[in-house]
Order: sequence, then C-alpha cells, then structure tokens
Amino acid sequence: MKRVAIYCGSATPADPQYIEGARTIGRTLAERGIGVVYGGGRLGLMGAIADSALAAGGEVIGVIPQALVDAEVAHRGLTELHVVPGMHARKQLFTDLSDGFITIPGGTGTMDELWEALSWSQLGYHSDPVGLLNLAGYYDHLVAFWDKMGEVGFLRPQHRDLLIVDGTLDGLLDKMAAHVPTQPIVRMKTTDL
Ligand code: AMP
Repeated sequence: MKRVAIYCGSATPADPQYIEGARTIGRTLAERGIGVVYGGGRLGLMGAIADSALAAGGEVIGVIPQALVDAEVAHRGLTELHVVPGMHARKQLFTDLSDGFITIPGGTGTMDELWEALSWSQLGYHSDPVGLLNLAGYYDHLVAFWDKMGEVGFLRPQHRDLLIVDGTLDGLLDKMAAHVPTQPIVRMKTTDL
C-alpha cells in the first residue's frame, strides 16, 4: 500500500494512550513510506496522526468539507488539503486517493467511515483492504458484533474476512498486505444472496 485512509476520532480522550497511540501510528506510517489520507482536521487523534506523520517526513493529504473549513478545524500544514462540498464527495475522495483503509479509535464519524468502507467493499465498489486497529482493546465489542452478524447470518461467509483486525499496526499492515479480495455482491448470483 502506498497510501492509506486513516479514520479516527476528532476528540481527545482523557486517557493519554489514545493520543500517544495515534502519534506512534502517524510516525510509523511515515517511516514505512506509506502516505496518509485523512479527514483534514487539526483536532484530537486526527491532528495527532497528521502532526506525527508530517514531523517524520511523511505525506499527509486531508479531505475536508467546506463547512468544517468554515468552522476553522482544518489543519493548515498538510502536504495537500482538498476542500470538498460535502460528506459524499469527501468519502468518495478518501476511496479514490487511498489503496487501503485503517480505522483507529474514534466515535460516530469514525464508525460512519469504517462501515461505509466495509459496505462498499462487500458490494464491490472497491477491493482495498479494510483494517481495524484494536488499540487498547477499544474495539473488542465491535469485533464481537461482527462475529455475531456472521453467526446469525446477516454477514455472508464470503464476507467475514472483509474486516481485518489486529492489535498492533505492524501486524495489521502485514495482514492487509496479504488481503485477497473476496466475491462482492455485484458478482454473486441471486441464489447465493
Ligand atoms: P468522530 O469519530 O465522531 O470524532 O469523527 C471523526 C471522523 O469524522 C474523522 O475521520 C473525520 O473524517 C470526520 N470528522 C469529525 N469531526 C471532524 C472535525 N472536527 N474535523 C474534521 N473531520 C471531522
């Protein structure tokens, strides 16, 4: 992967391990020569990822809607900042500019981005790996829910491996590099759905 879209929180949790984790991830990606595409904000884990990747000489591309620029949350020191009209254009550009997705801890916006990357992959709108970094066990319940969807049958067996999970960035990047695209819904027969 040359560039990954990083989805993460715009908040700063009281527990410092989240911000510290984000800084380590930004630095490690830059050291491994992997560019970062992200939401273009300067706050919370988003700002920490961008600042640490830039400080380590990495490429950081932000994609932010005009409304958030107007709210003055845009990071002004990025390699590139794309200002787009709204969220739909933003998420399309995340997909177009990156060749993989990594979600680290975050809230509602982060969940929106993760599930869209998974849903678009399942349907066949992209075939890039979708990784979840389970930093500090933050996503234990989400991983359990993913398994539950598979057990009940709302997630098809062909798509259970779409969510790639690891507790470390190195482990996650290795798994993502080995990702083999699965059969998307657009290429399945009605009888298999
Ligand atoms: P959340 O997890 O709710 O903090 O939302 C974070 C995600 O939503 C990021 O990956 C961004 O794409 C978007 N987002 C939410 N808040 C902001 C913000 N203040 N500045 C830029 N992007 C944001």
